[in-house]
Amino acid sequence: MVTNRTFTMIKPDAVKNGHIGAILAQINAAGFRIVAMKLTQLSPAKAAKFYEVHKERPFYGELVDFMSSGPIVAAILEKENAVEDFRKLIGATDPAKADPGTIRALYAQSMGENAVHGSDSDENAQIESAFHFSGVEEF
Ligand code: UDP
Ligand code: MG
Repeated sequence: MVTNRTFTMIKPDAVKNGHIGAILAQINAAGFRIVAMKLTQLSPAKAAKFYEVHKERPFYGELVDFMSSGPIVAAILEKENAVEDFRKLIGATDPAKADPGTIRALYAQSMGENAVHGSDSDENAQIESAFHFSGVEEF
C-alpha cells in the first residue's frame, strides 16, 4: 500500500465561495504534491456511497445532500506522512474548534459545510482515491 498519499475534496461550499485557488495554494505551500485532480460533481448516489460509513449518523442525509449540491475538486496529494499532516493542515471537523490558520478555520462555515475533506487513514486514502481516479489519472 502507498502510505505517503492522501485524498482530499474541496467541498461545494468552498468551491461556490471562490476558495479553490487559495486552498490549493495553501496545500502546495505546505509541501504537498498534486498527484491527481479534477473538478467534478457527486451524484446523490455517489455521495451516499462515499460517506457510507456514516449512514447511521443523524447528519448523514444532510451530508449527502450537501456533498452532491454542487461541484467539488477531488485530488490525490503526496507528501511524507501525508494523511496525518493533511489532517493537521485542515483542522478540526468543527471550524469553530479548528486551529487558527488551518483551512477549515479560514474557509469553513459550519460543522457540515466545512470546506474540505481529508482521509483519516492510509487505508481510507487508498479506497477514496480509487473511488474518484483510475491509475492512468495519477501522475
Ligand atoms: N459532519 C456533520 N455533522 C457532524 C459531523 C460531521 O455534518 O456532527 C459532516 C462534515 O461535513 C464532516 C463529514 O460529515 O466533514 C464527515 O464526518 P467526520 O467525522 O468523518 O469528519 P472529518 O473526518 O471530515 O473531519
Ligand atoms: Mg472523516
